[in-house]
Amino acid sequence: METAGTELPILGQSDETPCDSCHGGCCRTFVIPLTGADIWKLERDLKKSFWEFACRWEDPHGSIAQKYAPHFHFQDEPKTPFVIGLIQSESTFIPRTTKCQFLREGAPDEEHPLGVARCGIYNSRPSACRVFPTRFDNTGDVVEIVQVPNQLNEDENQAYNLCPRPWEPADFDPVTTMEHLTIAAYEMRFFHKIAQLWNRKPGPWNIFPDFLKIVYSERVMHGEKTLDEELFPTIIKFPAAAESETPSKRAA
Ligand code: SF4
Ligand code: SF4
Repeated sequence: METAGTELPILGQSDETPCDSCHGGCCRTFVIPLTGADIWKLERDLKKSFWEFACRWEDPHGSIAQKYAPHFHFQDEPKTPFVIGLIQSESTFIPRTTKCQFLREGAPDEEHPLGVARCGIYNSRPSACRVFPTRFDNTGDVVEIVQVPNQLNEDENQAYNLCPRPWEPADFDPVTTMEHLTIAAYEMRFFHKIAQLWNRKPGPWNIFPDFLKIVYSERVMHGEKTLDEELFPTIIKFPAAAESETPSKRAA
């Protein structure tokens, strides 16, 4: 089940982020690539099957993967590189345009001619949505804001306009933003490894979700070690109370 729509991609510190009055241009413009972890969480949180929210997007020129998402190959079209991403659907209010199927559109009005839209799965949205429009700087210790032009292509339908104003550092929570970037980078790296494994001998598309389930369900395993003083030599023991000491004295 979808969770209630709240904010669009970013958690902000400022009173109003560019997303607050936006029609969700990024959720209409870009194909959202998924990691296996995103897929696991969407299935778990939305109680939907892979086939209800994910699809494979042909990406012969790498314009969807953008050197970020991995390409997968499948038995029926072994030469075609695909990106695994969210399914899109028709917009309700802006004819002949498409959008992420989870975008909840508001009706256009005088103040907002394209309407105001919200993410319908905010708490479960994929990593790629969480990090937009940020990335790590060269050190990996600082978050860089990637400035987003209002229009990528002026001939496009206005539905595909992007952020209504430039992003500022105060629009971001410095801790949450770094956490999202770190998780996104880790999970995408791991998904690249899964792609390498799968592409050694591409299987049929219809077994791909089961393959992912097997990989991710084996992510946590029993170790050989038992908790002891060798493993954690610096456990600080809680001091034993002196015989005469009463609980009320210790609490003082
Ligand atoms: S999942 Fe939410 S944030 Fe991501 S593209 Fe869809 S509507 Fe936008
Ligand atoms: S286009 Fe920019 S302002 Fe609009 S929802 Fe996406 S990130 Fe937010």
